[in-house]
Amino acid sequence: MESLDNLISSFSSLPSIGKKSATRLAYFILKSDKRIAEKLAHDLLNIKVMVKNCSQCGTYTEGDICNICSSLNRDKIICVVEQSQDVYFIDSTGEYSGYFHVLNGVLSPLNGVGPKELKLDKLVNRIKEEGFKEVIIATNPTLEGDTTALYILKLLEGIDVKVSRIASGMPVGGDMEYIDKQTLSRSLKGRISY
Ligand SMILES: [Zn+2]
Repeated sequence: MESLDNLISSFSSLPSIGKKSATRLAYFILKSDKRIAEKLAHDLLNIKVMVKNCSQCGTYTEGDICNICSSLNRDKIICVVEQSQDVYFIDSTGEYSGYFHVLNGVLSPLNGVGPKELKLDKLVNRIKEEGFKEVIIATNPTLEGDTTALYILKLLEGIDVKVSRIASGMPVGGDMEYIDKQTLSRSLKGRISY
């Protein structure tokens, strides 16, 4: 059945969904009430229409500026992360109450991602103009994450701000997504000054 095969293939294209799970999901949709399929289809499209990137920090938001950027009583610290999900992970540790900047990627010359694609000039301008006391670079401890951190460090030379790197406890080559809250809290507290 072509329509069933198409749905299985769509589910399989999602992260961490293998062929088996995709088949189970497709059969679930097939046998369940039509309203479930309608709601799913609506929610999938709606999130793409409603959610955009915060015009200041780049994280996902439904307004022009996200809740964190709109808040006036956070610490004057800025944490630079690779993706929006990292904002969620770090914020939910309760150990950090500063602001964020989402790169939406890492430097990767082979894939055509350079400083311009990551809008690093925007980050530097924010740091200069918004009076942050500290910049915490929290890119993942991968080769590309480290390269990006060093590149940002270089861009910040000559600017009067403390720069540190989230480090200890983060598994080498690891992804923030896969570490637990306590480890992430420790990594934040034990950050290393450049
Ligand atoms: Zn924001």
